Amino acid sequence: MENYIKVNEKVIDGHLHIEAWEQDGVSFLDFFDEYIEQAGLNTVNIASLPSGERNVSNNIMIAFYKLAHKNAFAHGGLVYPEYPAPDKMPQGMDFVTQYKELMEIGFDGIKMLEGKPSLHKLIGKDLSCDLFDPFFAELEKDGTHLLFHVNDPEEFWDETKVSQELKDLGWCYCDGTYASNEEVYRQINRVLEKHPNLCVNFAHFFFYSYHPEKLEELFAKYPKLGVDVTPGGEMYIAFDQNREYYKDFFVKYSERIQLGTDSTFPGRIEGCRWLLDRVYRFFATDEVVKGFNDRETKGINLPKEARENIFYKNFERTVGTKPKEINKKALMAYIEKYRCQMTEDENRRVDELIKRFI
Ligand SMILES: [Zn+2]
Repeated sequence: MENYIKVNEKVIDGHLHIEAWEQDGVSFLDFFDEYIEQAGLNTVNIASLPSGERNVSNNIMIAFYKLAHKNAFAHGGLVYPEYPAPDKMPQGMDFVTQYKELMEIGFDGIKMLEGKPSLHKLIGKDLSCDLFDPFFAELEKDGTHLLFHVNDPEEFWDETKVSQELKDLGWCYCDGTYASNEEVYRQINRVLEKHPNLCVNFAHFFFYSYHPEKLEELFAKYPKLGVDVTPGGEMYIAFDQNREYYKDFFVKYSERIQLGTDSTFPGRIEGCRWLLDRVYRFFATDEVVKGFNDRETKGINLPKEARENIFYKNFERTVGTKPKEINKKALMAYIEKYRCQMTEDENRRVDELIKRFI
């Protein structure tokens, strides 16, 4: 096994996912422990993905993850009664109510995948429409951190550039049934115009690594807007191709940037460590390593202050220095309310967790 870096400074991995209950007998509750320990991470943030392929059980699992790991942060997500989403949500399931439920349970922020073209198409709504608007207003008012996946790499709209592997995942958006990437950006721009103080962190550099001037414009306009540097390997290739510019960029905007890896359970610890190693080395060293897409990249070795912002300070400033505690009563009420949306097997597993933790 390659020798991966154990970080010897404070680092928070702000972007992880849990997508299954177990893998080879290892529970979702335990998998990341080894990663955190071996990589020397300070802590992690798990971003729930309860829509599209998964359901409300993802929020519930991740609340239990927090109960089992008092120092872990988590972002909860919105759930949908059906797809496409209705014009008006059923009584008690509107997004403001859902947001308040998640906050009461003890989530530290909100995760949205709704800007990813595949989920965006499934939901079938303009992100700036009235269905979401009061919810964004509430987040803005509370200053709640929103980790928001919007769009995907530009080439996913270009049939000739998308690999078969990505096509099989359903991530080729060329058949005319998906919104264009310009259209999704337009919708988000309208959201930002209406809610200029939204504390939002766009995942994967907002897919602007080849158009950083657009990010600079947004940073100038919106004081609480940031991005994470969670791969997308294409980002690191773009950073490397434009090294001198990006070195200045990351120093100048270090207060807008957060670290994440997108490490996911089920998966392999080695995969998580590889991701963190490549991201960390890029910012903290000037080593040349074989990185994403098998390309060599050279680290930009940022000064300490910029690094600290990216590695943990921005996370603590926007999300919190200490994870919120799980409110068991609120969690139980949530489980009872949404039980009907889970499968029998999920209900059984949730009951086991209740026995163990509540
Ligand atoms: Zn992600």
